[in-house]
Amino acid sequence: MVSRRFTAEVLNVGNELLDGRTVNTNLSWICGRLTQLGYVVRRATVVRDEKSEIARAVKEVLRRRPRWLFISGGLGPTHDDKTLEAVSAALGKRLVLYPEVVRRLEKRYMQLFEKGIIKDPALTPERLKMAKLPRGAKPLENVEGAAPGVLLERSGVRIVCLPGVPKELMSIFERELAPVLAKEAGGRGYVVRSLTVKDVVESVLAPVLVDTMTRYPSVYLKSNPKGVEDGSVVVVDFIAEKSREDELRQAMEYFGKKVEQMRGG
Ligand code: ATP
Ligand code: MG
Repeated sequence: MVSRRFTAEVLNVGNELLDGRTVNTNLSWICGRLTQLGYVVRRATVVRDEKSEIARAVKEVLRRRPRWLFISGGLGPTHDDKTLEAVSAALGKRLVLYPEVVRRLEKRYMQLFEKGIIKDPALTPERLKMAKLPRGAKPLENVEGAAPGVLLERSGVRIVCLPGVPKELMSIFERELAPVLAKEAGGRGYVVRSLTVKDVVESVLAPVLVDTMTRYPSVYLKSNPKGVEDGSVVVVDFIAEKSREDELRQAMEYFGKKVEQMRGG
């Protein structure tokens, strides 16, 4: 059982994700980064751009009390961007105008105007919407776009809202959150290495996977079959905590030898 301190959940918002128009790369990216940083993502939820659905999902996550909740999508200026409204409702907070975010938006739209990208730099109600954050939230600077990220805390759960645009999401995560997460997790974090095994099918590899994990219990092996068109290819991931890197190396060697023996035999 992982200490609650190092747990996270992800909530992705967007009709496009559930209509199958957009691949949920934000989820795989966030999960990958959190794993590297030493966290365990316990669950991911995907909901449509509906205020009640988002609010309900947030309340459900809060009941499970992970340390972090990462929400993506729905922070923009359009009518279907309802994430902050929903999060505010779920927490019983009001949306309030943040003057520092207004100033940043003014600057951004002025720059876009000067570059000739927009005809009018005025802060329309749509643009101003992005400066309304749940009371008490901390804005997270978005250097790649307009809508800032948002960080707030409720009952020991840190809730982060990030824009859906992958480039913006990644940039806010790396600049504003990764240092905090790395510090919180200390020396934790996982190492992942992979071996590609050709021409031995997964069902034949199965006992070798178990044998290796029994011998090296701190190393977790996960096999990923990659298709059998030109002969079988299986990529095997070896996962261990950073402090167990030696065992991970030994497990890879052991596994490699066993597979070679099987080929020979
Ligand atoms: P914006 O400020 O641009 O309006 P937003 O926070 O409102 O950002 P969305 O409107 O939900 O974000 O999505 C913006 C873009 O990002 C869309 O092109 C969408 O397909 C893409 N996107 C949204 N969610 C994801 C996701 N989970 N994975 C990959 N791409 C995504
Ligand atoms: Mg959207």
